Formats: sequence, C-alpha cells, structure tokens
Amino acid sequence: MLLKVRSDFDSLSKKVNGKDLIYFDSAATTLKPNRVVEAIEDYYKNHNSNVHRSPHTLAGEATTMYEDARDAVANFINAKREEVIFTKGTTESLNSLAYSLSKDLNGEVLISTLEHHANFVPWQQLFDNVIYYDAENGVFNEEKYLKLVNKNTSLISITGQSNVTGQEINIKNLVLKIRKINKDVIIVLDGAQLIPHSKIDVKELDIDFLAFSGHKMLGPMGIGVLYGKKYILEKMKPFLYGGEMIDQVSIEKTTFNVLPYKFEAGTPNVGGAIGLAEAIKYLESLNVNEVYSHIKELTSYAIKKLSELDFLDVYGTKDTNHNSLISFNVKNVHPHDVANLLNDLYGIAIRSGHHCAQPLMKNLNVHSTCRASFYIYNTLEEIDVLIEGLKKVNKILG
Ligand code: PMP
Repeated sequence: MLLKVRSDFDSLSKKVNGKDLIYFDSAATTLKPNRVVEAIEDYYKNHNSNVHRSPHTLAGEATTMYEDARDAVANFINAKREEVIFTKGTTESLNSLAYSLSKDLNGEVLISTLEHHANFVPWQQLFDNVIYYDAENGVFNEEKYLKLVNKNTSLISITGQSNVTGQEINIKNLVLKIRKINKDVIIVLDGAQLIPHSKIDVKELDIDFLAFSGHKMLGPMGIGVLYGKKYILEKMKPFLYGGEMIDQVSIEKTTFNVLPYKFEAGTPNVGGAIGLAEAIKYLESLNVNEVYSHIKELTSYAIKKLSELDFLDVYGTKDTNHNSLISFNVKNVHPHDVANLLNDLYGIAIRSGHHCAQPLMKNLNVHSTCRASFYIYNTLEEIDVLIEGLKKVNKILG
C-alpha cells in the first residue's frame, strides 16, 4: 500500500460537509502533491521570465528549467528530447496532430467507440475515410478490431485505457499485430488514462505518436505532451504559426525552426512544464510498479465489492483487464443524484455524466453513468465507505 503518500497531499485534509474528503475523481484530474504546487510557486516567485528570448539572468533560468522539464518528460517515456512537444493537454495534442496530418494523409483512419471525444471528434471531422470499431457492451475485442486493419489503413488512434470502463488495452501486443498486417500504419496512442499509473515506453511499444495530459498524473492543468517519432515530425507541417516556430520570415517565404520548436508557436506554459516535471520526479520516486499494483488492488477490490450489490449495474468489466476506475449506475436513480448524495452525506467525490464518451454510452445503452476512479492516495477503507454510501443512496432514492 502506498499510504505513506497521503501526507504529501494537503488537499486530502479538506473536509467536505463535515466529512474527510474521499477523492474518487482522479480520472478527471488528480490531486496535486505539495511539491508540485511548490515547484510552480518557486518558478513564478523566483525565475519567471519568457523563454528562449532574452539574454538576462531570469530568462536564462526559465529557459533552463523549461528545457530540463522537456528532458524529464523525454526520459519518462524513453523519447528523444526533440520528439517531445508541449501542448495544453491530450485534447490539443490530438487535435493538432489530426489537423497537421489531414493535409497529407490518404487512406483509412481507424478509431473506436471506446474513445474519449478528444480522440474521436477530430478524426471524424477532419478525415473523409474514417472506419469505426464498435465495442461490444463497452468491451474491446482485439480480434474483431484487427479485422478492420488492412493495407489501406493509414492511421489508427486508440486509447490505452477507457475512461469509462477502465479496460486496459494491451498496446504492445496490438501494435505488433497491426504492423504484421500493415507495417506503415501510423499508430497514435491516447495515453491520458494509462500514463498516470503505467510505464509507457514509446520505443518499446513502437507507437508513432503519444498524447497525454499533465493534470491527470499529478501535474498542473494546461500542460500536456504530444510525442512523435522524429522522422515523421520532421516531415509534418506545423499546426500553429507564429513566434518561436520560425527560422526566417520574409514577404517571399517563411522557413521553420528545428524540432521541437517548429511545433511550439507562441509563449509556452513554462510554469506548467516545470510542474509536470516535478510530478514525474515524484511518480518516479514512488516506483511505477508499486503505483500500478496499488491502484490495481483498489480497482479489483472495488469491482468485486460493487458487483456484489444487486441494486447496481456495473459496466464493461466482464472478463477483461481493468484498472483505476469503474462505471456503474444505481438502478432507477439518476447518476447526478447518486453523485450529489455521496458528496453531501459522505464527502465522496465521484463523477457522473457521459464522461465525454457518448459513442460508448450508446454502446452500453445508457445516457450516463457514475464513475469512481482511484489513484495513489486512495485506500481500501475509502472504498468501503463508498459501498456504505451506495447502500444508503439506494435506500433513500432506489
Ligand atoms: N482521452 C482520455 C482517455 C481522457 O480520459 C481524457 C480526459 N478525460 C482526454 C482524452 C482529454 O484530456 P484533456 O481534457 O486533459 O485534454
């Protein structure tokens, strides 16, 4: 158990309606450890300046800190530093990629109904030839998915873990199989839910692009990453034009900066990058295997306990590998009412709604669900309180 980490989060001492906060909404955004907040504060108090521009001391310090943050990200995912582009988050990473590739890519784009809208709508809106894999009752079936990959597939974009069911997809296996069918497919991984608790080694997985958000892995909001293989990024057109991303500008012609700056137009989120790097250092200090097994233990316990409640419908957890979150409904009760009551009576924070995954909601034949998500600071005892809370909700509203 990672119980020792709880003291690193001041926000865990918050009282909600007189109860100790039980934060089960980390899939939406994690709490921030004190050292991340302090690193951001230190930057703004002591080193704040625009980067890459001025020769003065503060500018030098800010530039070093920003570029060190890029190194920390690159090491974390086993990429080269020039392959790490800072963005606002997963949504911006995926949109930017889709815009840039849409000018040059022909062939089929394969996506699935398991995706968050951020990995669904950009491809749907920007490409003519989109193929959809429809999950069955919310469950990804590799064999059926692979039937949709062919010699004409130019890109697939897939999540490493569903933000609704928690199903983890064996990306390494999948990539190997995809490349056997068509070695040239560009493979994009939405790592937003996977990277907070799993090691993603972009070389080992042999993916071409990876998108993720800092705020779902203990970092601040407004910072994320788009990783891309260098040789593809070199060929790709920039998706934003402006300062920083240029080499020479004249009326006749503009030439672009080298990687990764070609894709980082404008003033970047320096404090955000520094906060993300601090979050990565913190996660690394905890040991990724320990993080994974702690969250897995919580998830398996929650699935077991929630599945025992006959007044609940639990979604998409049959016979598959799940981690970090679970979706459910109390029969005949609206998920918003469940979430409100858990908050009001027990101080439990869960999410209710469609989780930005309406195609998956349709697939599951529901409009919305409750979602409890777990992270390093949660405990089995907190899940017991959730069970007690759900029984109470059912008694009052069911
Ligand atoms: N993909 C997945 C799987 C997600 O869970 C989320 C966030 N809920 C996103 C993409 C979008 O991330 P962001 O809002 O940080 O851009």
